Amino acid sequence: MQVRLLRSTPEPELIIAAASRSTSADATATEIMDKLTPDYASRMIKHLISAGHLSPLEHASFTFSIEGISRACSHQLVRHRLASYSQQSQRYVHLKEPKFVTPSSFSANPEMRARYQEMVRKAHQFYQEMVKAGIPMEDARYILPGGAETNLVMTMNARELLHAAALRLCPRSQWEIIELFERIKAEVKRVAPTIGEELRPKCYKLTYCDEPKSCGLFPTLKEMAKAK
Ligand SMILES: Cc1cc2nc3c(=O)[nH]c(=O)nc-3n(C[C@H](O)[C@H](O)[C@H](O)COP(=O)(O)OP(=O)(O)OC[C@H]3O[C@@H](n4cnc5c(N)ncnc54)[C@H](O)[C@@H]3O)c2cc1C
Repeated sequence: MQVRLLRSTPEPELIIAAASRSTSADATATEIMDKLTPDYASRMIKHLISAGHLSPLEHASFTFSIEGISRACSHQLVRHRLASYSQQSQRYVHLKEPKFVTPSSFSANPEMRARYQEMVRKAHQFYQEMVKAGIPMEDARYILPGGAETNLVMTMNARELLHAAALRLCPRSQWEIIELFERIKAEVKRVAPTIGEELRPKCYKLTYCDEPKSCGLFPTLKEMAKAK
């Protein structure tokens, strides 16, 4: 899997801070922007997040090229509706090579790993035969498994990134989408260090775990009540 930040709003943290400050200052955003420092913007963003005043975060957007994730993972990703997606089409792009994601859990069972790889290879072979026989690619692709690789471009604003990362960086999420959001976080940190740092599992904000079973980072409410 590869995640590359293609473009983002220039000076994303300054824009967010300027937008926020402009709501309560007797000055225009242009005047405010000229005087803002990265340190002030960082403190402002932390305050906005802890206070739940999240709309100024919508002014900064991030566009990623997401390459080589499985269709199983992309299906989870696109459930986040407040974003824009452009995904490589299996209707128009002929899958010439068998490209599939192999989960690392298979390494613990070499026999299952070998059988999986044989099955996906066979599925791809049959796909090729169908295309050769004149079956449209949009139909031949039905044989391709959820592990088939895909590429997509995603644009998400900082507010939705915080929300999606809070869900997807939780260890209760699936390993591939956790890895995807870890890479997204690393890319965001390069241009927006405070926002990047704030992309964390939801329990950091809650200060407890709202899942049925805690991973150990924070206790569940039940565990907290028991400890009292
Ligand atoms: C660990 C885990 C397991 C999951 N398992 C399943 C599963 O088994 N089956 C399944 O179907 N899904 C599953 N999901 C997906 C999940 O139900 C959500 O669809 C997904 O996480 C997208 O998040 P979201 O709904 O908060 O909204 P996003 O689309 O990210 O939107 C952000 C926020 O905007 C608001 N919003 C967006 N659209 C609307 C709207 N139409 N109306 C009102 N408010 C809106 C909501 O406040 C929402 O939280 C799972 C997710 C996780 C993290």
